[in-house]
Amino acid sequence: MSEKNLAQAIREKMKADNKRFWAGDNISQYISPEQKDKLINEATVAFESVLDALLIDRETDPNSKGTARRLAKMYYNEIMAGRYDPAPDATAFPNDSQDRYEGMLVVRSELRSMCSHHHQPVSGVAYIGIIAAEKLIGLSKYTRIAQWCARRGTLQEELANDIAREIEKATGAKDLGVYIQAVHGCCENRGIMAHSSLTQTTVLRGAFKDDSGTKKEFFDNIKLQQEFAPR
Ligand SMILES: [Zn+2]
Repeated sequence: MSEKNLAQAIREKMKADNKRFWAGDNISQYISPEQKDKLINEATVAFESVLDALLIDRETDPNSKGTARRLAKMYYNEIMAGRYDPAPDATAFPNDSQDRYEGMLVVRSELRSMCSHHHQPVSGVAYIGIIAAEKLIGLSKYTRIAQWCARRGTLQEELANDIAREIEKATGAKDLGVYIQAVHGCCENRGIMAHSSLTQTTVLRGAFKDDSGTKKEFFDNIKLQQEFAPR
């Protein structure tokens, strides 16, 4: 691996462009779909080195033979896919007719993420609430956007902000709330080994923040959702 590999070339380009590439950042504009296979090959070689450093026999242990490649594919295609894939297509429909919807919309989205400190799984739910603005997007798109933000190395506090920002972009809504409830593998599997490490984060904007009635309606909706579909 002495000559420059593709990952190195991409990192250098991002540095030259002052493009931040932290674990929670999307860098899809720097990676073409064809390049992904090459990057997975490079990550496979790197994971082989990690397994070697951990003194795991990947030559005769049948369970460890393909592990480096499985890890490389899992990172690129699954647990960190939200870094490498472009934003999901969320076609917006105008909400400007006479009988436009003006109420609150609350969507419950299942989340799977990974903490950027320990690369341990984070799982939970996000409740996304908006007061319908001039655009509407399909209901499944809220969850697609939330999952795209979550499938990265995240901090729960940042994740709530990321989801709020992307939902605002897609819908134009200025009044919105994001509430996340999640359990963290890094608290359950290591460190304090707490089995019920439930963490909650809330981001409130516009009327959700300034109007106590709107805020109450949002949290009442969450309670109703939790009764209907307990986590
Ligand atoms: Zn952690």
